[in-house]
Order: sequence, then C-alpha cells, then structure tokens
Amino acid sequence: MSGNGHAELIFVGGAVYTVDAARRWAQGVAVRGGRIVAVGSDDEIVQLRGDGTEVVDLSGRMLVPGFQDAHVHPVAGGLDMLRCELHHLGSAAEYVAAIKAYAEANPDADWILGGGWAMDAFPGGTPTKELLDDVVPDRPVYLPNRDGHSGWVNSVALKLAGITRDTPDPADGRIERDAQGEPQGTLHEGAQSLVSDLAPPPTDEEMLQGLLKGQAHMLSLGITAWQDAIVDEGGEFGNLDAHLRAGADGTLKARVIGALWWDRTKGLEQIDDLVARRARGPVGRFSPTSVKIMQDGVCENFTAAVLEPYLDADGQPGANRGISFVDPEVLNEAVVRLDALGFQVHFHSLAERAVREALDAIETARRTNGWTDGRHHLAHIQVVHPDDLPRFRALGAVANAQPLWAAHEAQMDELTIPFLGEPRWRWQYPFASLVAHGATLAMGSDWPVSSADPIEEIHVAVNRQMPSDYPYRVDNREVFLPEERIDLPTALAGFTMGSAYVNHLDRDTGSIEVGKYADLAVLDRDLFAHPADEIASASVQQTFVEGERVYASRDA
Ligand SMILES: [Zn+2]
Repeated sequence: MSGNGHAELIFVGGAVYTVDAARRWAQGVAVRGGRIVAVGSDDEIVQLRGDGTEVVDLSGRMLVPGFQDAHVHPVAGGLDMLRCELHHLGSAAEYVAAIKAYAEANPDADWILGGGWAMDAFPGGTPTKELLDDVVPDRPVYLPNRDGHSGWVNSVALKLAGITRDTPDPADGRIERDAQGEPQGTLHEGAQSLVSDLAPPPTDEEMLQGLLKGQAHMLSLGITAWQDAIVDEGGEFGNLDAHLRAGADGTLKARVIGALWWDRTKGLEQIDDLVARRARGPVGRFSPTSVKIMQDGVCENFTAAVLEPYLDADGQPGANRGISFVDPEVLNEAVVRLDALGFQVHFHSLAERAVREALDAIETARRTNGWTDGRHHLAHIQVVHPDDLPRFRALGAVANAQPLWAAHEAQMDELTIPFLGEPRWRWQYPFASLVAHGATLAMGSDWPVSSADPIEEIHVAVNRQMPSDYPYRVDNREVFLPEERIDLPTALAGFTMGSAYVNHLDRDTGSIEVGKYADLAVLDRDLFAHPADEIASASVQQTFVEGERVYASRDA
C-alpha cells in the first residue's frame, strides 16, 4: 500500500449494508491492497478515485459482507455435481430416469456414485433395490440421500458387501428390511459403510476437482468463507490434501476453516493425529483448526438422540431414543482435551439429547480449562429442550443454525412431526428463542444436504416458509412455528458476522468496515426494500475476495 491515496476499486451509488456494530448504512466503499479503506457517502468515496481505479456503480443495488457458511460440505457437493446428481430432482420417477441416463452415459464407470435423493419421494422414506436393479443390473450403485444419513443400493452392491437377511445391524446403523426380512435396498447411518467402504474413494485429483467445483458454486452465491464440516484423510471425505494443495497454489479463493473428522470408532488416542493434521496448516486461505464430532444422527431415520423415545406409527412411545455416537463420558473427556489444545469443537447435535450432551461437554471443559476462545458450536440444533436454551449464552456455545429446514415440507410433516409428538415437535429450530436467550447465532447450509444459497436460507429464517420454487414438496399453507421467526438484520448477521465469529475470522471479515478485507457480495436488489416473502427472489451478481472479483453473473 503506497502513500498515494487512490483506491484500486470503488463501489458507489449503492445500498451498502455494513453489518457493523451500529448496523450502519453507506453508499459506497473503497478498496486498496485487498482491504477496505473507506466506507461512506458517494462524495467521500469518489475522492479516492484515481486513473486506474475500477468503479462499480451499484445503481441502488445492495452490497453486503461476503456470506460465510458455518457448516457445509463443498467438496462432497462439488463431487455430486460431477457425478450422478439427484439434488435438483424431487420424485422417484425422476431419480430413476436420471440414474438410468447417467449409467448409460458412463458405461465405463465401475460404480454408480453421486446422490441427493429426498426421503419424502418414497413410501416410508426408504427406496428399494428393485428400482435400481431395473436400470442398473450390472454394476454396484451407492447413492446417499440428500442429508447423507441413508444410502440407496442395488442388488449387486448388497451382494458385493455380503449383506443378506442374516446380516446383523451394525451398532451405529440399520439395514432396512422388507416384510420378509430381506435387505430392502436402503442402509442407514453406519450401515452405509458396509457398501460405501467398498466403493473406490475419490482420487486426489477428483477431490481437488470436487473442491474447485464446489468453490465455484459457493462463490456464485456470494459466499466468501466457510467451515467445511468434514475434513479427513483417506476415504470418502479424505479432502485434507485437496485443501492443502488448493491453499498452497492459490486456487482456493475462499477462506476455509476445516473441521477435522472425529472418528467415533476410535477414542482419545486419535487426538495426537488431529494435532498432526492441524500442524499441516494453515496454508494460504485454508486452516484446519476445528474438530467435528458427530454426536447423533437425524430424526427421519430415528437416529437423532432424543430424551424421551420416539413415537411409533400409532403415536405411542416406542423404545428407541436414537443413538449417541460418542459415549457422553468419552465426549466430556475429548472436549476437555481438545479445548485445552486450542481446538474448536464443531458438534453435529441434532436432537435434544445430543444438544444436551454437547452442552454438558462444553460445561465440563469450561470448568476444567477456564474460559478459552474455542468458540465451540452446535450445528443443526433441530430439537432443543427449553431448559437448555439459556445454556448457549452461559457457556459461550454458538448456535449454528441451518434455517432452510425450519419450514413445513414433506420430510418435516410426514417423517418428523408425527414421531417427535407433542410438545417436542414445537421445540424445533428455536432461533428466536435462542436469540432472546442471548445466544450467538451462526448460520450454514449443510450443502449438499440442501441448497447452499444463503438468500434462500435467510428467506426461511425470516418467513419460516420454503421458497415457493423449491424442488421438494413444500407446504406453505402454514408458517412453521411463527414465534421462532427472526428478522432480516438478525438473519443477515448470522450469515456474516455470526459465522465469521465461529470461523475466528471476525477481526478481518464479516462486516464492511475500514481495515477489514474487501470480501463482498453485490445483490441484485436491496433486500430491505422488498416484502419479506420475496427475499428468495434476490440473487448475487458479483462476489469479491480481498478486492478480487471471483464471480460475476451474466447480468452483473
Ligand atoms: Zn453436515
């Protein structure tokens, strides 16, 4: 940065929403050396214009801090985009047609891989092997659903894995069976690995291509930083090397915090490995400083950890209370040690028992280690017991919300509410209650589980109704628990400063302030100038990281 006062890049004529502490608005922004050097009125900003200055005339459009996604799987999303991609479809017939077309187009692929089907497209949420056998009789098929917690397989895959009616369910999963006890073609949670372990993991090159494809998608949505919720070495999620490579050669444009995978089949002895993996970074914009502990599953297949048993199809309590993947005592010990080592812990805590176990572990760490700056966070928080709402603030645990799921749609109405029952289903996605109790709210998409688009997420956070053009079966007749709606400033803060806080990037990003990096997104309209139920119609037109334009739409 030389002494000359000229900016390299200025934005003028806009609705600049800064997300600073005062929630200030401005008309323009000036950038030099990748950092913001001025935020103010057009008159103030144009004074910094020189011969070589690039001018972006916003013409009333909105400029926001680049979005940050606090829980996402861009490499998996990118790989899906490069393989048999089902996310954009919504019915069994569409899935089968797409799988048939993909298999025909890829005759040399030894396996049919990809995924993204929705449970609500099938009776009971579980597709059959016969549907696949009809279109792919010759090769194994393994297709995880959109949340990755269940996998759809054909007969060849079952045979290859040796799964028969006599195969017991693994401790951390379930083999779906038909009325005769035969494997039906859907594998839940840990049972998926009986097949997925046999599929060839992506090569290093495929991982890198997946990362870059995923990154391009994220950047096109105005997302300039994220936390990858599973970074591992080897296997299906073995994307650590891809991140290190892309970080080193600068092809990684976004800022990425890696959450290193906690292997629940191992114990505390794995902490040494995690320390060694962390020590391989930071490289470029990649920093593997978090640890992901998956504490439970999901409600739709009854693997999320609940305090009282799930109801059965007749509305009566059964015996199943879901799965705590990590024994709570081991969890406490692990979190104490990780916290002391300066790691952040990123929990998958979906239902109320897993939420409580995660909060208990953080409480134990606070008691043992004092107050560290780990910024531990609980992702998903679908069901939170009311007694636990104040504990987020008390413990400095960040609520990491995936707001797109907080709406009436088929998976919620048919596969979740009847089995959670009263009053528990009303404890779902309590975002306004968490804010009222002083919790810090971060937000993420969990893409490819559901859309990566923060504007769609924000739409649902504010409206608690799905965008009307969403590919799932949606039911917008009713607002989903309307008292838990949050306002637009709160939702925008969650996707910017809130997630920047979780990512330990809040000193340098997350708001538009002098001295911070010019990580910015241009929206086609001012979200505040339109009705709340039209938020999802907005789109991102340009994205910048450190003042470099990393995405521009055709209509930019
Ligand atoms: Zn996830």
